[in-house]
Amino acid sequence: MQAEIITIGDELLIGQTIDTNSAYLGQQLGSIGISIARKTAVSDKESAILSAVAESFSRVDLVIMTGGLGPTKDDITKKTLCQYYQCGYRRDEAVLAHLEALFASRGRLMLETNQVQADLPALCETLHNAVGTAPGMWFDQAGKVLVSMPGVPGEVYHLTEERVIPKLKVKFPLPTVEHRTLVTLQKAESLLSRQLETFEASLPPHLSLAYLPSFNMVKLRLSQVQQGDAVASEGDIDLYFDRLQQAIPEDVFCLGDIDPALYLSNYLIKNQISFTTAESCTGGWVAHRLMQAPGISAVYPGSMVAYANEIKSAELGVDPEIIATHGAVSEACALAMASGVRRKFGVDLAIATTGVAGPGGGTKEKPVGFVYIAVSTQNGELCKSFRLFGNREQIIQRTSNAALWMVKQVLKMPTDSAA
Ligand code: AMP
Ligand code: MG
Repeated sequence: MQAEIITIGDELLIGQTIDTNSAYLGQQLGSIGISIARKTAVSDKESAILSAVAESFSRVDLVIMTGGLGPTKDDITKKTLCQYYQCGYRRDEAVLAHLEALFASRGRLMLETNQVQADLPALCETLHNAVGTAPGMWFDQAGKVLVSMPGVPGEVYHLTEERVIPKLKVKFPLPTVEHRTLVTLQKAESLLSRQLETFEASLPPHLSLAYLPSFNMVKLRLSQVQQGDAVASEGDIDLYFDRLQQAIPEDVFCLGDIDPALYLSNYLIKNQISFTTAESCTGGWVAHRLMQAPGISAVYPGSMVAYANEIKSAELGVDPEIIATHGAVSEACALAMASGVRRKFGVDLAIATTGVAGPGGGTKEKPVGFVYIAVSTQNGELCKSFRLFGNREQIIQRTSNAALWMVKQVLKMPTDSAA
């Protein structure tokens, strides 16, 4: 089943508003087995909207639109749809009652322009919008469905999840779609895919593997698409998800579609492992990412961001001799920062980063992207150098992912801490 998305609004075309609605709709519809064949953005112009709808319906039977449903004159989607479907208006008393209640609860005067929002094209079914003033509209004519929603993202989420998806499931015979995701860190997508060649070749037609890379992290998503209640004879998604993990046992950081930093934070809380960070090239970003889990303060007293050499020495106890001999970006300095901050805060584990985030400051021996990461615990320590690529922000993000990977090695952390 394929659909097209049409987003309406001049602001989308001049780049004033980023079109997040279609990304969201792509995810939501994909999760129920509807793939998006095309996305179109058009201005608030009648001719543009009319031709976009006609063109989309020449290719697919389902069109989802957002935007242009506000009470102001620039929003013309509703009027244009009346023209497209050659119908007049009907007043929806339920919408009017909702609007009156909404305005009363907000203590605001309801104007004539607001009342007009209860007038809908005669041919559409109302999709009640509990969180806003403009209702959604569902047209089902000649076997083709058009859904129109307001542009406000929060209203799109509400209408999609509460009204549109349940109706689509009834209207169209959709396949059952299931996903299993795991997170890998440090290995490049191309190397992973080489390692997974045999696994991918063994996949039956109803299963597919997607690579979702970002900053030294690759999420691997296994998807299963099945029509009706048929159970595949070749084996189900869980069997193949186990095989996927077995094919890359060293690379799996954690299971689930989850930020690996959140996974690690939860693991540290659950196992009462207290930790801290001393960050020179990441400016607190490693600590920040590890703060996502509620309850983290039970195992996290605080961190040091230490850029100046004097601070590294005065606050973390890094011997100035180390910096003079090896430089601040060195294995010796990273290890001294990690053990220093661990003692300073009296915790079980410390992560230290020191490197060249760029764009300046690189040398032949220590170019931009050259980073040391050290992890120190009571039972031992580990330090590695990394050669990371990208701009400053990307190097910081990649360093933080490498740091998570280091902690996993040191703690021998399982991939599924719920187990
Ligand atoms: P409208 O329904 O056209 O009045 O849109 C209301 C608000 O939603 C505007 O402030 C837009 O910036 C925002 N908006 C409209 N379309 C989109 C979209 N595709 N993605 C994200 N925001 C949008
Ligand atoms: Mg608009």
